[in-house]
Amino acid sequence: MANPPKPEPPAEQTLDFIREIVAEDVRSGKHLTPVTRFPPEPNGYLHVGHAKSICLNFGVAQERGGRTHLRFDDTNPTKEEQEYIDSIKEDVRWLGFDWGKHLYHASDYFDQLYEWAELLVQKGLAYVDDLTADQIREHRGTLTEPGKESPFRNRTADENLDLFRRMRKGEFPDGARVLRAKIDMAAPNINLRDPVMYRILHASHPMTGDKWSIYPSYDYAHGQSDAIEGITHSLCTLEFEDHRPLYEWFLANLPVPSQPRQIEFARLNLTYTVLSKRFLLRLVNEGRVRGWDDPRMPTISGLRRRGFPAEALRQFAETIGVAKRESVVEYAALEHAVRDVLNRTSPRRMAVLRPIRAVLTNYSETLAEEIEVGNNPEDPAAGTRKVPFARELWIEADDFMEDPPKKFFRLAPGREVRLRAAYFITCQEVIKDAAGQVVELRCTYDPATRGGSAPDGRSPKATLHWLSARHARPAEVRLYDHLFNRADPGAGGDLLADLNPKSEEVIPHGWVEPGLAGLAVGARVQFERLGYFCVDRDSTAARPVFNRTVTLRDTWAKLQAKS
Ligand code: ATP
Ligand code: MG
Repeated sequence: MANPPKPEPPAEQTLDFIREIVAEDVRSGKHLTPVTRFPPEPNGYLHVGHAKSICLNFGVAQERGGRTHLRFDDTNPTKEEQEYIDSIKEDVRWLGFDWGKHLYHASDYFDQLYEWAELLVQKGLAYVDDLTADQIREHRGTLTEPGKESPFRNRTADENLDLFRRMRKGEFPDGARVLRAKIDMAAPNINLRDPVMYRILHASHPMTGDKWSIYPSYDYAHGQSDAIEGITHSLCTLEFEDHRPLYEWFLANLPVPSQPRQIEFARLNLTYTVLSKRFLLRLVNEGRVRGWDDPRMPTISGLRRRGFPAEALRQFAETIGVAKRESVVEYAALEHAVRDVLNRTSPRRMAVLRPIRAVLTNYSETLAEEIEVGNNPEDPAAGTRKVPFARELWIEADDFMEDPPKKFFRLAPGREVRLRAAYFITCQEVIKDAAGQVVELRCTYDPATRGGSAPDGRSPKATLHWLSARHARPAEVRLYDHLFNRADPGAGGDLLADLNPKSEEVIPHGWVEPGLAGLAVGARVQFERLGYFCVDRDSTAARPVFNRTVTLRDTWAKLQAKS
């Protein structure tokens, strides 16, 4: 695996509140080493919020010599699919983490969970309720009013056991009955008002097939699964804070082999981004994106396809840290981490996205030279490559203006510019088509400026990238912008209305250096002056496709410098 994260206990003074707790539990001897888990529900692809949770769970354990389990929370067979399970494993591995042999499923524990449910029934702590889902909701009460007890709440243990066993045997239709914990319908915490433990669902399960016609709730399955696996610290997002008393109630009333501790942290929220598998699934199903791994999606697979390095996601997770308070992180902070890694690791190349032909009238019609171009101007060790140069060139159309305003220093009639590492050229004549569109520039070059500097010391204000028209290779280039056009998508009431119609711009006829034709899918480069790009999986041998990962300009760094 490339760049595995180095396990290193963080300096004591920088510990976040979770690492504080873990450090104290190790120091006090409560636990020898921490055991954490990442528990995705396989009902969609993972997103960058999950990446935060993965980095936290695996990071906390690695730093103290512990381990992390990957556990599929597969308690709802109607929404879960093998495709999601496979993608989740791939994404966790790609992020640089390894669960080793500790791959589990909540469904591994269905037998044990069922046995414990019978135990609660026998202890008078659970009962079968015949109320419908709607009636149960009506009986629940509100934050200010206590709930009402179900008329079925005081069935005898024997009657409950008989009904529960028949639920399991499949004697009743879906939704006919549920098993509920018998706690307190007047509890101020609604989660304690006799929560549902099992519901009837005649559905085939990816792991257990047709064995079960009842399935446990998340609340009942999660803590017991943690306890069975010997999880020491069960880290989850803040929405589970109110579920913690229930988590602890089950652990206290069952003969579980260990007592895990649930700790909640604030989920990641990002500007211009929606982090909800359910909503992302909708975008996929409605064909609003190219799929789960569309480069505009905030999924881990989308970010990977976009060209984000795993190292950048880990670095991002580290900089945003873990807190107990909800906040929204600037998308620019994520891009900042991406640029930081790509700037160090991406070779520089040249591409022309919107070409205009420049013909060097005083250059040989037959000759072609090889120009040596540095692979990274900031890093001489990155070496050089040879790029063919000839009489007819592609340059970027917007690097030329016939009638330039004051601050435009690039090419214009009569003006001289530098072509990166090649020659100075001067525009002598502008050729237009019948419609008045500029179609070609007639230029002269100065042979004395080979390599990009003049013996007389003159220096043009602009340096342009270029390609030899006859050597360049065609490429499709896809440019991306935010998927949503407001920082707080959905705040106006309709998420879909906030989708950015210009989030993808396809340039079907771009040109790239000849050396870029055979790059592997996923390879990353910087196109000089245009941004960081990576090779998309839609590439063919005849025509590579490049995704723009991120532009070169770092608004986040600027913002930080200001404050
Ligand atoms: P979604 O709402 O996107 O479906 P989820 O919480 O239902 O997410 P799970 O598969 O249940 O998804 O989540 C697995 C783990 O990832 C959980 O521990 C959850 O708390 C954590 N997680 C989910 N979203 C975020 C987020 N935005 N930031 C941090 N952690 C998250
Ligand atoms: Mg969930």
